[in-house]
Amino acid sequence: MFPPPPLPSILRDLITANHILHHASIVDGYGHISIRHPAQPSVYIMAGYLAPAIVSTAEDMIEYHIADGAPVDPNAKKGYSERYIHGEIFKRFPGVHCVIHSHSEAVIPFMVAGVPLRPAFHMAGFLGESVPTFDITPLYTPTSQRDMLVNSVPLGAALASHFAAPAAPADSALPDNLVVLMRHHGFTTCGESIQDAVFRAIYTHKNAAILSSAATLRAAHGLEAGGLDYLSEQETEGCRRMNEATADKAWRGWVEEVRAVSLYRNVMIEDEKQKE
Ligand SMILES: [Zn+2]
Repeated sequence: MFPPPPLPSILRDLITANHILHHASIVDGYGHISIRHPAQPSVYIMAGYLAPAIVSTAEDMIEYHIADGAPVDPNAKKGYSERYIHGEIFKRFPGVHCVIHSHSEAVIPFMVAGVPLRPAFHMAGFLGESVPTFDITPLYTPTSQRDMLVNSVPLGAALASHFAAPAAPADSALPDNLVVLMRHHGFTTCGESIQDAVFRAIYTHKNAAILSSAATLRAAHGLEAGGLDYLSEQETEGCRRMNEATADKAWRGWVEEVRAVSLYRNVMIEDEKQKE
């Protein structure tokens, strides 16, 4: 594990990651990405109350204490109500440096239909053999507003507990499973870096779309229900390693894709270009 990049470059990448996730339909007006502060591991950073497509400057970001989700600056502007998803995963796993929460329209049907999400192709080995589902409903009290939002420390902790502790904590500070589905809501993933987490978010979404297409094809051809051909256990593990080794290539391409779309502005990149 390399030391995290310095704050300016990680903030620049965090802004771009907001755009990449929007461009890939992982987030729309909702959904979010956060990073652990590279110099203060008890603090995390994410955009304020903004749609991800229009996040554009370091001033759009808010710093929060991992301990309780309170802003470091008590006068900070309004933030996302679901920031506790992020804080509680950072609290539980010291090796996690980025968390992404999505309402992916490709992934949600799997929970609605009660169909397991399993790796269908080689870009999704990181999904592992099975992906757990978090159900918020049993946590509600009679007076709860049942809006599915993970908007408190206890709800965030309950979600984070679905990321399994590694079998050998000395070897890994990441969870054993890197994706958790959220019933009637979406999914959350994480990584050691922005690049790793963005890769997992995008390919969780793509893997779900592929499985749905395959199930539709089977139904259209009158084949019996089920019968989808998933990666084997050994293939899943081999592909997971390959995914981790190649995510940087995809990231560099996605950075250029969003730079070419005028909707997305990253003032930190513009300032870098002006200084060159
Ligand atoms: Zn949400």
